[in-house]
Amino acid sequence: LVSRKWRVHPTVLDLGDGIRLGEGSLSIVAGPCSIENEAQMEAVMQHLVQSGVRLMRGGVFKPRSSPYSFRGLGLEGLRDFYRLARQHGLRIVTEVMQVSQVEEMLDYVDVFQVGARNTQNFNLLDALGQVDKPVLLKRGVSGTIEELLHSAEYIFSGGNEDIILCERGIRTFETASRNTLDLNAVPILKEKTHLPVFVDPSHGIGIREHVAPLALAGVMAGADGILYETAPVPERAASDGQQTLNFDESARLVEALRRTYALR
Ligand code: PEP
Ligand code: MN
Repeated sequence: LVSRKWRVHPTVLDLGDGIRLGEGSLSIVAGPCSIENEAQMEAVMQHLVQSGVRLMRGGVFKPRSSPYSFRGLGLEGLRDFYRLARQHGLRIVTEVMQVSQVEEMLDYVDVFQVGARNTQNFNLLDALGQVDKPVLLKRGVSGTIEELLHSAEYIFSGGNEDIILCERGIRTFETASRNTLDLNAVPILKEKTHLPVFVDPSHGIGIREHVAPLALAGVMAGADGILYETAPVPERAASDGQQTLNFDESARLVEALRRTYALR
């Protein structure tokens, strides 16, 4: 069902207010790795509005390698995130980690994110197939392109056709970067599926200085959207500060992304 053989026309998601995701426009999703507090959200939101970015990312349920790391503000934080975002005219993308969270999050989410550790959580994919909210599905940490498409198929076949695929780097033998951003996946996915394809250079390389060039490369490779991390003071972020852009860097990236997209 997610194949171009089945549907020739590209799938475009309509989030209302003129926000459309998919072929024909470049989507930018930016924000902190984790939602931390109201002041942080306010600062990011003002920055995004100033930059003309309509979609904000931020996790309230965080999958952390260590159980002692900050694991997010949970549902209460999500309610604040959603309310503040609405006040700023922004849409939000946030990660859901398990089936039981789908229903409680439903009224406070614009786009559900399925993280790389849950790409093959088939029960979660089934549950998201039943909801009337778009899903941004990340590629698994060690997942193949084919496996990503199968995971999308779970959601699509359940009845939810609003899916975005996101390349976020895979685990390889390389240790110089956090992950290996597989830009090969972009043209291959665009050929195979009618779904929008995004690139997440932040998790893809994990090194702040190199996020922008990879984001631009993702656009030139054919991505329909770029998702990256930005926060007021990356050095003090509760998670993923090492790959998070400050607002100056973020504003410059947004400009460069638009210019690059125009060249395509
Ligand atoms: C994130 O977006 O902050 C995240 C945890 O991403 P991934 O699932 O790709 O690691
Ligand atoms: Mn992160």
